[in-house]
Amino acid sequence: MTTEANVDPREIAKFEALASRWWDPEGDFRPLHDINPVRLDYIRRHADFAAGPVLDVGCGGGILSESMARAGATVTGIDMAGAPLEVARLHALETGTRLEYLASTAEELARTRPGAFHTVTCLEMLEHVPDFAGTIQACADLAAPGAQLFFSTINRNPKAYALAIVGAEYVLGLLPRGTHEYAKFIKPHELADGVRRAGLLVREIVGMRYNPFTRTCTLCDDVDVNYLLHAVKP
Ligand code: SAH
Repeated sequence: MTTEANVDPREIAKFEALASRWWDPEGDFRPLHDINPVRLDYIRRHADFAAGPVLDVGCGGGILSESMARAGATVTGIDMAGAPLEVARLHALETGTRLEYLASTAEELARTRPGAFHTVTCLEMLEHVPDFAGTIQACADLAAPGAQLFFSTINRNPKAYALAIVGAEYVLGLLPRGTHEYAKFIKPHELADGVRRAGLLVREIVGMRYNPFTRTCTLCDDVDVNYLLHAVKP
């Protein structure tokens, strides 16, 4: 199911239903909590939070958004699921973190704030939209010249199917069943293609290896399953 707004209502419904569990480090979003320090560190090494505002596209309950705000960034988080956004707002109040959360798609925000952001992050989100290239284009439009952009997703191959769906959802029960749809996974060359078509320059593609037993995450050369792409806007 697709809407004109490049939103899949079934995907949004999944995240609406899980919202209350967003900040439980032992709950349904445990992998996002476990990988967050590594991705935050990568972003901080390549972006300058002092250069200007940061946009987090598909921010959900705000795990990454809030961590960037705590690291000194001026953050706007956007998502199309209302309940996770409410959870994100409440959590920020509780922790005394200042940031802005809006119910919006990247495409919508690009109409009112083009070129406004010096850093754009869009992590673990592209595999949930009908047209990921459209979202990347909107992220590019929202970025200022010289901005740093970060996209992460899951590769599409038998190993990714075995680990990210069979392993994570069915064997280990790390994620609720149905969280991910294999056909929506994105190969690194497809992601890089979308990034280049949006007028961005690919700087680096790095693998992210998550060990659910030790709950550790490391960056690596192996992009077979989870990976992150860093791009710049010329
Ligand atoms: N980026 C966050 C959350 C990832 S979960 C993190 O990595 O910690 C994916 C999020 O994308 C969900 O909150 C979901 O509601 C959101 N999402 C899915 N489709 C969207 C769309 N078209 N526009 C905005 N957000 C969307």
